[in-house]
Amino acid sequence: MTDHKRCPDCGSTDIVDDAHYSQNQLVCADCGFILTEGLLTYTHTEEGFLQEVRFTDSTGRNASLSKNKLHGLKRVRDLCKVLRLPLTFEDTAVSYYERAFDSPSYHSVTIQKKEILIGCCVYVTCRQHNWPLTMGTICSLIYADKTNFASIYLHLLQTLKLDVPVLSLKDLVKTHCKNFRLFQASSTSVPDHFLEGMERVVERTLQIVELAGETWLVTGRHPVPIITAAAYLAWQSLRPMERLTCTLPRFCKLADVDLPPPAQQRLKEIHSILLKLASQLSWLNVLSINKKTVVQHVGDILQHRSFLLKKSLQDYAAATQDKSQTMAAKDLGNSAMAGDIAEADGQCKNQKAATKRCFLPPCLTNPKKRPRTAVATAEQVFTGEEDISDSEIELYLRTPREMEEFQRAHPWD
Ligand SMILES: [Zn+2]
Repeated sequence: MTDHKRCPDCGSTDIVDDAHYSQNQLVCADCGFILTEGLLTYTHTEEGFLQEVRFTDSTGRNASLSKNKLHGLKRVRDLCKVLRLPLTFEDTAVSYYERAFDSPSYHSVTIQKKEILIGCCVYVTCRQHNWPLTMGTICSLIYADKTNFASIYLHLLQTLKLDVPVLSLKDLVKTHCKNFRLFQASSTSVPDHFLEGMERVVERTLQIVELAGETWLVTGRHPVPIITAAAYLAWQSLRPMERLTCTLPRFCKLADVDLPPPAQQRLKEIHSILLKLASQLSWLNVLSINKKTVVQHVGDILQHRSFLLKKSLQDYAAATQDKSQTMAAKDLGNSAMAGDIAEADGQCKNQKAATKRCFLPPCLTNPKKRPRTAVATAEQVFTGEEDISDSEIELYLRTPREMEEFQRAHPWD
């Protein structure tokens, strides 16, 4: 570089000499800003007067529009840099922004929405590369409201016809655990027995999250509260004696992470799953464990989790089959013998235990109580041709007295 010119738009010093129609111009290699523009003559008359016309004047392209776009593209790149994404992501995100910017549905949207669009392009790119970025993170970075962001995000997916894979829970666990201050040796304000190696916690948290996924606790839920609860449990179970008394809110405070409200509920659900699995292990079954003491055995349960899950499901399948068989037997009207009844009783107990252990999404096991709409009225079929009586319509009109009273209440109307 001969002289150190600086781009006034982005501050880059990477200025190149670009020949355009044999007219030299200085162009910023980073953002495309034109520093000095070669001058072109436009018409014969102007040539006659030796009047020079700028290139942008002769093309009729709306310069202000492209400036907006340039600004947006720069913001996309900046956001990628702030998030420390790989360079290839930047290019993908930029190409999405260009495509979205050029599509007619984004021509007349507000600046605020265009700002959100910048975040959406970066977010989509991350999701496509399985980069564990959450909507919450990106929204806080661009000061966007989550509902606004979500609507623009969905619209963007539709317009650009993009396909986005499900958030990779495994990667999210790893990045989320990095935020916990308890898992780094650097922190000083935390008691020694609370500190834990990152790798051990991540490994166990992953196992718990996977277990939660297999037992229907993840589907349809926000992943972060589940990970928070799982990380807490993993952390507790690695040294249960000292850490059992530490509650989830205190843990989050010590670890310097936010406690998402649903995390407590998720923790309860994971506890109950662990208890169910523990009841399958005969040596734990004798101990009559509860949700506090089960924490000590998390390691054992996780080690055998695939076996325990399979066994629970087999028990459940067997129980339902038995049930249908005994039902069938009753239907046949077999003169039941005393021994049979006793056997059936035993089976019943087993069935109950097995059904208790089967795994369903929590919304099915504890459905919200809702009053049923009356079935009787639904049976009536309306055609829309029925007579409408005057008295029925008059119900919607104010009587003279009601009018008087209304006027008294609203004298200014
Ligand atoms: Zn520049």
